[in-house]
Amino acid sequence: MFDAVKSELTRRHLLHKAGFGLMSLGVVGTFGAVFKPDRTLAQTGSTPAKQPPMPPEKKLGWAVVGLGKFATQQIIPSFGECKRSRLVALVSGSPDKAQRIAQQHGVEPKNIYNYQNYDSIRDNPEVDIIYIILPNGLHAEYSIRGAQAGKHIMCEKPMANTVAECQAMIDASKKAGRKLMIAYRAQYEPYNLAAIAIAQKKELGILKAIVADHGRNLDPKDPADRWRMNKKLAGGGSLFDIGIYSLQAARYITGEEPTEISAMMYSTPNDPRFKEVEENVNFMLRFPSGVIANCTSSYGYADVKRYQVMGSKGTLELDPATDYYEHRLYVQRGKVREERKIQEQNQFALEMDHLSECVMENKQPKTPGEEGLQDVRLMTAIYQAAETGRTIKLS
Ligand code: NDP
Repeated sequence: MFDAVKSELTRRHLLHKAGFGLMSLGVVGTFGAVFKPDRTLAQTGSTPAKQPPMPPEKKLGWAVVGLGKFATQQIIPSFGECKRSRLVALVSGSPDKAQRIAQQHGVEPKNIYNYQNYDSIRDNPEVDIIYIILPNGLHAEYSIRGAQAGKHIMCEKPMANTVAECQAMIDASKKAGRKLMIAYRAQYEPYNLAAIAIAQKKELGILKAIVADHGRNLDPKDPADRWRMNKKLAGGGSLFDIGIYSLQAARYITGEEPTEISAMMYSTPNDPRFKEVEENVNFMLRFPSGVIANCTSSYGYADVKRYQVMGSKGTLELDPATDYYEHRLYVQRGKVREERKIQEQNQFALEMDHLSECVMENKQPKTPGEEGLQDVRLMTAIYQAAETGRTIKLS
């Protein structure tokens, strides 16, 4: 118990220092307290309750903003598996597509919005929560407008292009007295939760190292990948899109925040995909307990989504770690390597229901805006480390 309290206090101190370390390097703006995540439980929110708590059997109404590949192939179908959330509205710049999807999923035509009349969603009492699934560079604007319309917000990762935008999103939600959650689905997915528990309950002994790799081959013919080549819409390259999963894994497996970052970047010369955004970033993170994480991120190598955790008594491997389904978890102690089977669940339904429950019970989501801001702050430091060739000290 004492150790837990002590390590929490140490961590808080380091987090505080981490924020100032970055600030003194001019990496972050003038921001206050650094986020201290609780990886296990939703916390009681500090946001004032503007409505009485809702009955637990009620499903909250969700609006999806941006009907692209991820929204139409993963999120919208997952409402069918939600217990607390239902799709009631769509926001899209493509009226034909919106009408077709509305018809398929039982959304009333009056609940279809476009980007111009989006703000009038404030007058629709059926919509409790807005889910932003737009290109990254549009997350801040639509999250802020959504909060100003009095709605709770779920925003896709990465939270936004800059630390300042993330802070503005947090401020807007606080001002409106509404929740803001970042859709870090892996933190709701049963295999990743099992990996966190194995690491943190010391089944692997004392943690020493993490290796995390996330890569895919960016396809310029895929419309969903076109905006990813545009710095303004994407915020960054492979790091912002998928390297963020390596960064997240290192943070949620250790339960700590890094104190030092070094990095190298490489983009294939003359490859038109990488005129504005980077192809590869390899980065190293040092954590207060001594764990060192080696992470890779690529838009050049074929599908990889895995991590390994090495401890004094054993190792853990999750591969794939952050896919939509069919994860595989192995734990090795001595010469014995065993596969751990866990019931797969729809992680999108789990994360959406988590936010609905947090709204109903007035709790802070497990992955609030501050969690997204911390990743953007760290990714900014990773780019700085790669560009300068210097180790960035965060404490
Ligand atoms: P898509 O390009 O497939 O979808 C984006 C949608 O946004 C478009 O279809 C369009 O919808 C709308 N849009 C509005 N303005 C623009 C614009 N200027 N350029 C392009 N699209 C625009 O991308 P994804 O679905 O792959 O990604 C969307 C978001 O979801 C990103 O933030 C991404 O990081 C995140 N994502 C998260 C994943 C996860 O596992 N958590 C996986 C994949 C993506 P419309 O025609 O309806 O207006």
